[in-house]
Amino acid sequence: MKTLKQMREESEKCLRCGLCQIVCPIYNVLGSEPAVARAKVRLARELAGDVLKVTPRMRKIMSLCLNCKACVANCPSQVHTDKLVLAARAQIKDEDGLPFLLGAALKQFLPNNSLQGVAAKSAYLYQHLGLQQAVRGSGLLKAVSPDLAQKEGVMPEFAPRTFRAELANMTLKKGGKVKVAYYLSCMTNMVNPALGKAVIEVLERHGCEVVIPTDVQCCGTPQLAYGDVETAEALARNNARLLAATGADYILTDCGTCGDTLRHYEELTADAAGFEQKVLDVSEFLVDKLGVKPGDKPVEAVVTYHDSCHLNRGQGVNRQPREILKAIPGLTFREMAEADRCCGGAGTFAITNYDLSMAILDRKVGNIKAVNPTIVAAGCPACKMQLEHGLARNNVGATVAHPVELLAKTY
Ligand code: SF4
Ligand code: SF4
Repeated sequence: MKTLKQMREESEKCLRCGLCQIVCPIYNVLGSEPAVARAKVRLARELAGDVLKVTPRMRKIMSLCLNCKACVANCPSQVHTDKLVLAARAQIKDEDGLPFLLGAALKQFLPNNSLQGVAAKSAYLYQHLGLQQAVRGSGLLKAVSPDLAQKEGVMPEFAPRTFRAELANMTLKKGGKVKVAYYLSCMTNMVNPALGKAVIEVLERHGCEVVIPTDVQCCGTPQLAYGDVETAEALARNNARLLAATGADYILTDCGTCGDTLRHYEELTADAAGFEQKVLDVSEFLVDKLGVKPGDKPVEAVVTYHDSCHLNRGQGVNRQPREILKAIPGLTFREMAEADRCCGGAGTFAITNYDLSMAILDRKVGNIKAVNPTIVAAGCPACKMQLEHGLARNNVGATVAHPVELLAKTY
């Protein structure tokens, strides 16, 4: 990946026109210049040129970005603020290091599939043996930190068994007209194994042979977001090697964020040659490569669709999930306003900047409420987690599902 110094020219493309103000969700809430892309681009330039040094204020400003790419899409100079911010964070990390717990999470926990399994099981037991209720009711969280109780509410509901564990009892069909490698995301593994099963069922119904290299690790997005490029590169090397070794025609993901990172693996490792063309979102593959074939069972629901930033602006996939939804018998599709506006999740942003994230999320929930759906469809498990929290905190009764999960219900 390019360093900030190597990206200095990118930062010099900025005209300072301020058009990024209109679309930046963070600027929309905070209304202060340092929050907007223009300021981050200028600071990145001065940091790259050693004119400015890393200070706590610089760190804070660079942390206030969702990597939603709305500024990039709206920029007349096509300045890649998203990449500049990540490169700036990498330089900051190289100079300052990472806080101990964060570093351990990025380097030891997230890449370790066994540890993930143990953590998911522990979280499930915490949530289902009455411990979570007891902790919430005790006032302990509020006593530790005033907003810890709110932040704990963002935690998704963990599955009783990870998808990796479920896979041990599943037999995947051999042979098919197309061989696809399904990249297993951490969220599908720990939180939503039902999505993994739905993806396999739908792909097999479409005549594909599905192979799943279970030793793949975290895609590297969280590491890149915190500037830990070394760990992200190591993960990319391992994942690229395992996925390429399957000999599959395509590499598919059900997670907009993982897919965006996998598509850019060539910037992280030489082992990912050709990945940009091979990596597809599962909805893109079904619609563009095979032609989506739903079953006969109707899904009686009113559905609206939220565009994940990494799926829509990151990968250019927005038409295909809507085509899948519109092809489902019995389903009524209603487009919401600002469907492509970020929900404010952005990995751990909802925890580190809870109030700001909720202000962004509440605007999204307002747009959802206006079309009164029973289901909100989204192509990114991280958005799903954030949307579920937003719907619950606004007392909206709709549920959240991946388009492919809804498609699987038709068989
Ligand atoms: S829209 Fe682009 S060119 Fe204009 S100020 Fe923002 S980053 Fe600079
Ligand atoms: S990527 Fe999104 S949050 Fe970050 S500066 Fe651009 S518009 Fe704002």
